[in-house]
Amino acid sequence: MKHYFNTFKFIIVLFFQLTVLFGESAIIKNITLPVFRINGNPYIKVADLTPLPGISSTLNEYESLDIDFLGAKINLNNGGSYFRINNELYHMPLWVEIKDKDFFIPYHGFFRVLEQLGLVNSSLDPAIDIVSMELIRYNITKLSFDQKTNGCSIRVHNIGAFNLSSISSTLVKKPGEWLSLTIPGGRINSKVIENSKIMGPIKKVRTTQLAESAQLSLQLKQAVDDVDIRIDETTNDLLIIIRVDHSENAERIKEIRKKWLLDTIVIDPGHGGKDPGTLGQKGTKEKDIVLDISMRLGKLIEKEMGVKVIYTRTTDVFIPLWKRTKIANESGGKVFISIHANSTSNHNVRGFETYLLRTGKSKDAIDVAQRENSVITLEEKNHPYRDFSSESLILATMAQNVYIKESEFFASVIQEELESAIGANNRGVKQAGFQVLVGASMPNVLIETGFLSNSKEERNFNKKGYRKKIARGIFNALVEFKDKYENAVINE
Ligand SMILES: [Zn+2]
Repeated sequence: MKHYFNTFKFIIVLFFQLTVLFGESAIIKNITLPVFRINGNPYIKVADLTPLPGISSTLNEYESLDIDFLGAKINLNNGGSYFRINNELYHMPLWVEIKDKDFFIPYHGFFRVLEQLGLVNSSLDPAIDIVSMELIRYNITKLSFDQKTNGCSIRVHNIGAFNLSSISSTLVKKPGEWLSLTIPGGRINSKVIENSKIMGPIKKVRTTQLAESAQLSLQLKQAVDDVDIRIDETTNDLLIIIRVDHSENAERIKEIRKKWLLDTIVIDPGHGGKDPGTLGQKGTKEKDIVLDISMRLGKLIEKEMGVKVIYTRTTDVFIPLWKRTKIANESGGKVFISIHANSTSNHNVRGFETYLLRTGKSKDAIDVAQRENSVITLEEKNHPYRDFSSESLILATMAQNVYIKESEFFASVIQEELESAIGANNRGVKQAGFQVLVGASMPNVLIETGFLSNSKEERNFNKKGYRKKIARGIFNALVEFKDKYENAVINE
């Protein structure tokens, strides 16, 4: 009886020691490999790798070689600078060579990839041309998160292969609970995995390496609706797909949708009253042309889009620049369109351009902004305007960055639609420091619809049909913008 007991104890101890040994053997240290120089570049001979535990190779037809590298399937070809690991393609700056039937692989290009995948650590001592190497026998090397509207998917990068049917997991749904996966044959790189950048409904990641399996545990931050575990057929990665509670999500989308519904459009006809804006050679006033275009645009919006329009002016009155954005913000406007006509000393210049609020990049853009801003001198009360030469402009444009993406998109669509509506010279989207755009808490653009200083364009501006076409072009752009604006939020 005593004898049996001792044997039993011996087995227990042996099992314990084996477990410890396995844990340690995840890394095999102190491997050295000779370096071969081909045209002065360091190469490793495949025949020096294959005697190592867990590495073997098979030669195929046409000088193609398969290497099983600790479960990772590597394929390379004589003369090739591309190689595959588990069907993913990698590139080396040099190529594989064959000498005396032996395969030689460029050390830097090849080992850099192996290191990224967590398969080896290595260093080359050029003085003695020896590579020192550690083999890391991890097959679970990385976690990556992909945020989705209704949850997230977590990719467990796998070198070798998982057997999905053998993976067991706990069923969790509530915040604070742990979703634990037991992966037989898994050797997990705990250091990398536990420091993964996490997001979505996951709060924490924990790993446990057992003798025969690895455990990956993910703690939930919020209630989830559904967890699905599957294998990505092409990469062999394990995918954990977590869907968050639908009802909660639907509410959130509804709320965002309401906030981002493009239900009020602000149209700002430039100048007015004692400020005529620029003048054509025949005396056409900018303030009259842009008011007419604005009113036509507003009517199209109300009639064909059924959306509320706020005008900064509907008659020939003087409105200070600061008051224009104030009107826009107080009306709950969702987009601000300032409409102008351009002028320059070169009377041959013609065409239309759309501006975004930013520090002016080109001399032309700065000139336009200076001219449009000069109206400030006509304003009675001194309003504290931003000084465009100072850092306050940087602050003003930074505040606008929230809307810059939308404004940029809108501006580019305006240019496209105006081009097909009036066929004039498309001068593109530009940027400059326009006072009238500063402080608009919504996507905003300033359109210079054409040059009054050009006699042909002045003639066109005086035709009702031409002004109608400009309004139609801007309206078409708004239709496209509204569609994108309202849908973009939902798909984020
Ligand atoms: Zn103007």
